[in-house]
Amino acid sequence: MRIKLLPALQDNYMYLLIDEATKECAAVDPVEPQKVVDAVSEEGVTLKKVLTTHHHWDHAGGNEGLIRLTGPLEVYGGDDRIGALTNKVKDGEQFKVGNLNVRCLFTPCHTTGHICYFVTGDQGEQPIVFTGDTLFVAGCGKFFEGSPNDMYHALVEKLSKLPGDTRVFCGHEYTVNNLKYALHVEPQSKDIQDKLKWAQAQRDKNEPTIPSTIAEELKFNPFMRVGAAEVQKHCGKSDPVKTMGFLRDEKNNFKAK
Ligand SMILES: [Zn+2]
Repeated sequence: MRIKLLPALQDNYMYLLIDEATKECAAVDPVEPQKVVDAVSEEGVTLKKVLTTHHHWDHAGGNEGLIRLTGPLEVYGGDDRIGALTNKVKDGEQFKVGNLNVRCLFTPCHTTGHICYFVTGDQGEQPIVFTGDTLFVAGCGKFFEGSPNDMYHALVEKLSKLPGDTRVFCGHEYTVNNLKYALHVEPQSKDIQDKLKWAQAQRDKNEPTIPSTIAEELKFNPFMRVGAAEVQKHCGKSDPVKTMGFLRDEKNNFKAK
């Protein structure tokens, strides 16, 4: 499998998920349809499906326009508010993009219908997860339609349990700010310091900081680390769900220098 990363709007990422064996592909959150159509023809692949992580405009807002350009596509998502939705999916549901297997992970909190897509290819190939606005590199989405408990379920009980080498492709380029907050939570962490240095260098070159891996997130993402003593200590909590709530509130008001 191959991922083509397509920057969109201010700081969004769209993706093409390409199965190299069949040349079939899917577009993830194609908010800028023309860019997607151009990339599909450049790559010489066939676009069959749209994977929508959630209904927010900057993710789902291009679905109808894309179909106007390409003709009918199967549009996957977990929320009736998603434009042009044809395949409403539930937790654990699976489908194919070419020979690739896609498993839907229901992760409500940022929105009540948020879906992450876990993709596996040939044996030995690193899996991928598209995390939309649930998991960002070193951060997570705001709890617009959910609670700290919901995000705990999504991040700790679902996404943390994916294989460590799973590559994480998220919906926004927020990494540098997220890591500055992570460093505020765990100032002594070498993992956070090193990743921040790297991420800043990437952004200085106008390069993306995507993807990370699940194993990396478990080292530097405070929202994935709500069970860790260092993180709980910063929050003055001993319960992971309360720690999650504290982190979200503090991050919402955090001004990175
Ligand atoms: Zn969103």
